[in-house]
Amino acid sequence: MKQEYIENIKEKANYCLHCKTKPCTKGCPLENDIPEFIQAVKDEKYEEAFQILSQTTILMPICGRICPHKSQCEGSCVRGLKGKSVSIGDIEAFVGDMAFKENYEIEKENLNGKKVAIVGGGPAGIASAYYLRKNGYMVTIFEKYSVLGGLLNHGIPEFRLDKELLNNWINKVLSLGIEVKYNSKLGKDITINGLKEQFDSVLLAIGANVSSKMNIPGEDLIGVYGGNELLEYKSHPDYNGKKVAVIGGGNVAMDAARTVNKMGAKEVTVIYRRSKEQMPAEEKEIADAENEGVNFLFKTNLKRILSNSGKVEKIECIKTNLVQKQGEARLVPVDIEKSEFLLDMDYVIMAVGSIPEKKLVDSLKLETSKWEYINVNEDYETSIENVYAAGDIIGAKQTVAWAARAGINAAKQIIKKDNEKCKM
Ligand code: SF4
Repeated sequence: MKQEYIENIKEKANYCLHCKTKPCTKGCPLENDIPEFIQAVKDEKYEEAFQILSQTTILMPICGRICPHKSQCEGSCVRGLKGKSVSIGDIEAFVGDMAFKENYEIEKENLNGKKVAIVGGGPAGIASAYYLRKNGYMVTIFEKYSVLGGLLNHGIPEFRLDKELLNNWINKVLSLGIEVKYNSKLGKDITINGLKEQFDSVLLAIGANVSSKMNIPGEDLIGVYGGNELLEYKSHPDYNGKKVAVIGGGNVAMDAARTVNKMGAKEVTVIYRRSKEQMPAEEKEIADAENEGVNFLFKTNLKRILSNSGKVEKIECIKTNLVQKQGEARLVPVDIEKSEFLLDMDYVIMAVGSIPEKKLVDSLKLETSKWEYINVNEDYETSIENVYAAGDIIGAKQTVAWAARAGINAAKQIIKKDNEKCKM
């Protein structure tokens, strides 16, 4: 590791005020003890910093790089009130890098004889597997692909997250003694009932990665794609010389727009119905997209997609006004009458949110919400006893840290319930 990198991180750590009230910790979905781990970095006690973080997370080098820090920990940092926040993400990523380089050991308890099956190896699945194994459980992850990581591997493009770093880190977590059964798809290779027979508990962390629809005319035309599916399956059309519209303002929209732009599209335009300040995507991703030449149309809504040939030819958009409505936390976009306009377009990528895979969720025969999210009680338990669910599939906020938090919370509930049974 270059001395220059270490010195840069130490400088960033020394900028932290070690606030007693820990506002940054309150802003972190995982409630990482930020002042304490940064203090350990200041003292050059890097292994101690890693052990402090390990109490609440195991995704340090990942979250440190891709979390939306400005709206989480760094957004709550007191330094940010009068200037620049502490670069908490960079310091966290550094601790993860040191842990990998120096092979810091992850503390764990001896096996307690309990077995848990975790279905899905994304952030929620990995975080819960880590927490359970750390606490003495024998854990097996059932993963539908031949690699773990979920959307970290299959959704986030390489230019935003180095896959070698990701997979090296996942292997470090697995070295705790977590077993993985790859190419195991729920409903095809494994079933809930089958897992229930072999394991004490089952935790579903199967994500929700089907692109939402806007239900507008023309959405089924050839040339309309879901952003999530494009990024996951990478079955792109030839964008060379083509005009592409990306609808949405989140990270999937930014990832899709930047990917398509890098693949040679003539013109990529992100269309977002609110203003730039309200975009859920990270500031850095928006700035990178702008710098790379992606166009943006703010306060603009997609009304319909037009064609005479069956393929996308034009889109009709409408301008919006943002108004405050009662009961709404955010300003609501309202279409401005007679402000419609047409744009020539070859492809449209919908990135307006994601939902669970309906067919799969229906086949599980679990209680669900009307949006197909699996219902869980306050203990993360589904309508079937000893079957738990966590992450995007229960409608958690769709960020890595929130998914990991849900995975750890579900793991805690499994442990709590087992302890209660032991006392009976
Ligand atoms: Fe450090 Fe900012 Fe947290 Fe205060 S709020 S302890 S300055 S990171």
